[in-house]
Amino acid sequence: MASEPLIQLRNVTKTFGNGPTAFQALKGVDMEVNAGDFVAVMGASGSGKSTTMNILGCLDVPTSGEFLFRGHHVEQLGRDQRALLRRRYLGFVFQGFNLLARTTALENVELPLLYRGEDKKERHALGMAALDKVGLADWWDHTPAELSGGQQQRVAIARAIVTHPDVLLADEPTGNLDSERSIEIMELLSDLNRSSGITVLMVTHEPDMAAFARTIVHFKDGLVERIDERAVA
Ligand code: ADP
Ligand code: MG
Repeated sequence: MASEPLIQLRNVTKTFGNGPTAFQALKGVDMEVNAGDFVAVMGASGSGKSTTMNILGCLDVPTSGEFLFRGHHVEQLGRDQRALLRRRYLGFVFQGFNLLARTTALENVELPLLYRGEDKKERHALGMAALDKVGLADWWDHTPAELSGGQQQRVAIARAIVTHPDVLLADEPTGNLDSERSIEIMELLSDLNRSSGITVLMVTHEPDMAAFARTIVHFKDGLVERIDERAVA
């Protein structure tokens, strides 16, 4: 028997605003993500990719439809329970890195552990291990301004994985990087996916980056238009 998908979206809609200015960004999205998959979400600007990622990341809620995580109905959870799910199971990477300035790489990476109430020694050990995974252990005491864009995104990835989440959500993680740096980030995400088994869900405009994924979900006008499963070596 096939195991249950990690994530299921069923007929998810999202309407922003109300009355005459209301805009339906998602029109009934159906999507499943299996544990351990590496998924690229593609589609034209405005097709609903970020809206979907924000719902999957528990940063926003659907207007209607179902969102199941490990079979649990997330759309029925209250704000606090959703925040717990987010902190326990999800990690985020954004296009703009979103690191705290004038704060070292290690302190940035330790932040999710601080929110979780880990003591200093544990934060340091887990933070250094995460920096090591992204190849930046030697850079632990550098601030974002002292790091290249590619290095900053690696710190952001370390921060996202430091809590050992089930899912890494990345909305255009290479959008601010040149192609060489972008490929390095994709190789890192692939490596984390393979070695740690973390499920990766990534938005990208670029076919070269999507080529790293096993599954490609194409969005069009607020709907999933097509899903391609690829054989990856
Ligand atoms: P994508 O990430 O695929 O470029 P988005 O999911 O960000 O697209 O946006 C989908 C549509 O929803 C766009 O037309 C966008 O303008 C609209 N939209 C997104 N967020 C909001 C919001 N907070 N308020 C109003 N409209 C929004
Ligand atoms: Mg977007």
